[in-house]
Amino acid sequence: MTARPAGPLVGVFALQGDVAEHERVLAGLGARVRPVRSAADLEGLAGLVLPGGESSVMDKLSRLLGVAPALRQAIDAGLPVYGTCAGMIMLAETIANPIVGQRSLGGLDITVQRNAFGAQVDSFETWLDVPQVSREPVHAVFIRAPAVLRASGEVQVLASVPASRLESGRTAGGEVPVAVRQGHLLATSFHPEVTGDWSFHRYFLERMVSPSGS
Ligand code: GLN
Repeated sequence: MTARPAGPLVGVFALQGDVAEHERVLAGLGARVRPVRSAADLEGLAGLVLPGGESSVMDKLSRLLGVAPALRQAIDAGLPVYGTCAGMIMLAETIANPIVGQRSLGGLDITVQRNAFGAQVDSFETWLDVPQVSREPVHAVFIRAPAVLRASGEVQVLASVPASRLESGRTAGGEVPVAVRQGHLLATSFHPEVTGDWSFHRYFLERMVSPSGS
């Protein structure tokens, strides 16, 4: 029997949210997966996923348990991080509508608005053209998703949806970014981990975690 080469060790921040879904996708793509709950769990990681869930709870727990500063340090040190939905909010430098006292980890120079597409009942699915990530349209599910209101010049917009999707912008024109990358940081407003469409995770692993295939 030939042993398969071990995949990169990727953490999934596991205090709250859809942790198991991300773990399944990452393992399916050959990564070794570690749930991250403490600073020690960050040791030796090649990448980290911040899942969807509820950003205000994730924020509160991560500060209460003392892991937030280590996460920020890892971001500053260049660890590749992928945030989906609440994870995008955690990565954003600025939250336009935080709950009282809510903070983000930051790192990604964007401003996000939480729940920008409406409430749970306004959840929607769509197919996005994301040429950098996939040749096929990407299946994206939006659940109380954040929108990117501002992105600095350093931020590459990978995908957008019409602004008419926004709760506040039903009559507005233009596009609103929903997938962005800034160097080692990747974030999507939507949840690719629940659709069976693995293209964003594959992009994260192949292009950001192990860009030389190492
Ligand atoms: N609205 C949630 C928040 O503020 C995010 C929802 C999600 O991750 N599906 O964190």
